Amino acid sequence: MSVPEVLAGIRAAEQAAGRPPGRVGLVAVTKGHSAEQIQQFILSHGVFPLAENRGQELRDKVPLLPGAQWHFIGAFQRNKVKYLRDVTLIHSLEERWQAEALAEAALKWGRAPEVLLQVHNGEAQKHGVSPGDLPQMLKDVRATGLTVRGLMVMAPHDQPEAATRVFQDTARRAHDLGLGELSMGMSDDYPQAIAAGATLVRVGTKLFTPATETT
Ligand SMILES: *Cc1c(COP(=O)(O)O)cnc(C)c1O
Repeated sequence: MSVPEVLAGIRAAEQAAGRPPGRVGLVAVTKGHSAEQIQQFILSHGVFPLAENRGQELRDKVPLLPGAQWHFIGAFQRNKVKYLRDVTLIHSLEERWQAEALAEAALKWGRAPEVLLQVHNGEAQKHGVSPGDLPQMLKDVRATGLTVRGLMVMAPHDQPEAATRVFQDTARRAHDLGLGELSMGMSDDYPQAIAAGATLVRVGTKLFTPATETT
């Protein structure tokens, strides 16, 4: 595993951007890894918030990893809301009905997850709130009683060279909306995301693959 490498990469990117050390939080994306692998990861490297992108996989892992702090980073349908009970932060809210369904479930659970609004990145894909709709969406989600902490964006798959621009645009939008949390950056682009102002990076592949050989 190359957790020390990723942590060093985060610190280096913070420093290069002139940002205070420790400002950027690492969210460990555990999708596709077994509870045993995740347990081993925690024992070796310490405690990080863990993130899953599929409801059933989250539901299956929660009871196997007591005490873990869970984030959710995937798309979810109405019938999957019930799997999100133990989640503290949802990065991927994109529809008004999701906020309404979560607020309703939160009454039953006696606690509510905080949320980030996922921003559409211009790619030919369907996920995310279009930038022009963000101010109204923010009002509507807040009206349900949920707490909106910030924005999340993914670099466009089909144009990785656009990553920096997408990250900078999203940072500016969060600032204009008065939102402090910025979830952006994955294994391949977290340094650029940190340079643009990310406060949370969501890293999976790089954490769970062996460290690269240095000669
Ligand atoms: C899988 C995933 C990640 C992590 O991606 P890696 O390239 O494995 O670091 C981050 N965010 C979301 C939404 C994901 O689905």
